[in-house]
Amino acid sequence: MQKTEMTLGGIYIPPSVREKEEKLAKTKTELYPSESRRRRGRQLKLWDDINCITELLCRNLQLLQFNAHEIYETIRRGHKFSGARSHHVAVGVYPTGALFNHECHPAVARYFCGKKIVLRAIRPLVPGEAVAENYGPHFLMKGRQERQRALACRYWFSCRCIACTEDWPNLKHMKAEKIFYIRCPNEACVYKFKGNVKNYPKICPGCSCSIRKEEMMSRSEQVEQCVQKYELGAKFMEEGKQFEAITCICNGVDNFSKCGALPHCKTHIAQEALRSCFAASGNVHLAPIADK
Ligand SMILES: [Zn+2]
Ligand SMILES: [Zn+2]
Repeated sequence: MQKTEMTLGGIYIPPSVREKEEKLAKTKTELYPSESRRRRGRQLKLWDDINCITELLCRNLQLLQFNAHEIYETIRRGHKFSGARSHHVAVGVYPTGALFNHECHPAVARYFCGKKIVLRAIRPLVPGEAVAENYGPHFLMKGRQERQRALACRYWFSCRCIACTEDWPNLKHMKAEKIFYIRCPNEACVYKFKGNVKNYPKICPGCSCSIRKEEMMSRSEQVEQCVQKYELGAKFMEEGKQFEAITCICNGVDNFSKCGALPHCKTHIAQEALRSCFAASGNVHLAPIADK
């Protein structure tokens, strides 16, 4: 979120929030008698209590718009993963959870153990990197324009995550286009090579380091090995082996970050599979199996 507007005591308060504050204060004044009239009455204590409750309600209504998390549980029948779906059961305010910024390609998956919120990484993170959550619109399901519109309406910011700045294709397009990138051998460089390895330049356009075809071929093979890990992870999931699947998929995702570059369809699908595996450790409701 871009914090370019006024601050008050170190807290970002956009003008639009101030407007709402003023409207709420006005509403409160109109709903309840003026200070002087209240002081004259015998029900001083009662009015103070009402005033306190009103302030709390106003405050929490404002907090809810930006900081509430939908609490969900996983509903499943026989199989641990196949046919399982998430079901929203409540809304909660988590002060620490609310500190996470949004990315359309989030770094963490969220699930709930009782009322406790749990956030777990679904991709490798380097020290100092921002750990982003997802507020709803995910690039796999929605195009950039639709995400931007939803985020601006609900959360009042323009997203500048990597999926937005590079305009990553959604899942449907990725599957059709078979996008495949190899990262530059220089770890500090973010340039990514696209297409056939034989056509790569001899010098990286991003950092000017020399590019050896053999090394890039080897990286391409390493990406294929990652895909094999994802497939093995999916097989473990079919067998209901949650923890074996997590180990296998995490290994694949970690290795992918050393040789490939995003977006990469199968890596994103693997990250979503990790989300399901993690959620199986959270609140799960076993639905009765219908009689045939
Ligand atoms: Zn974004
Ligand atoms: Zn480079």
